[in-house]
Amino acid sequence: MTIALAAVFGLLIGSFLTVVVDRVPRGASIVQPGSACGNCGLRLGPLDLVPVVSWLALRGKCRQCHTSIGVEPLVLEVSTSALFGLTAWHFGASWLTPAFCVLMAGLVSLSWIDLKTQRLPREITYTTAALGAPLLVVAALVDHEPKRVLLMLLGAAIALALMAAIYALSRGGLGDGDVRLSPLLGGYLGWLNPGLAPVGLFFGFLLGAVVGVVMMALRRAGRRTALPFGPFLAAGTVVAVFVGQDYIDFILAR
Ligand SMILES: [Zn+2]
Repeated sequence: MTIALAAVFGLLIGSFLTVVVDRVPRGASIVQPGSACGNCGLRLGPLDLVPVVSWLALRGKCRQCHTSIGVEPLVLEVSTSALFGLTAWHFGASWLTPAFCVLMAGLVSLSWIDLKTQRLPREITYTTAALGAPLLVVAALVDHEPKRVLLMLLGAAIALALMAAIYALSRGGLGDGDVRLSPLLGGYLGWLNPGLAPVGLFFGFLLGAVVGVVMMALRRAGRRTALPFGPFLAAGTVVAVFVGQDYIDFILAR
């Protein structure tokens, strides 16, 4: 029940993220005006805003001028919904579910913007932190584990220190948006276990390296071809949230 609710809520949030990823990089308001077709200006009514269903019914085209609106709404709605469902399944009916859903929504929008524009807008990073941190604090207090607030700060510090060091060593290989994002990821992972903060970054770099090598092999892309790193950091964090502890236990048991 919780999982289904979270998945449906994820569809709605994903629909909202479509507006966020379009407007935040342009510095436009995410509230006003309402959504409209980018080509003919047709204002979208409530029926057009039903996630997934409206996209499928119109086959990703504007109802009036039939300009393609792309797969973006579908990708964002389905991935947010899946991640919210997974979060609810993993954390159950606890404060951690809304707290980590905030993280998932932030990571989906940041990843998509980074893919499109090679940027990680700080507004989204900071908004995610401002919404998520209080929920994590509440989750710690409700669980009678106030020390988790300190672990959260420790995880944020570990991740920031590691990324700042890698940033300095990489000489332009990483964006400062990646560094700015790291304490958010480390804070969330640190709440669970500060040891997960480096694990999440490690997973991110591993994914980035694998994809980078494959892309170089396929396209013979030069070493200088910019690969946005935000999506890998995000994916590494998501993997660490769900299976990072199993990974640590496995390594320590050997
Ligand atoms: Zn149109």
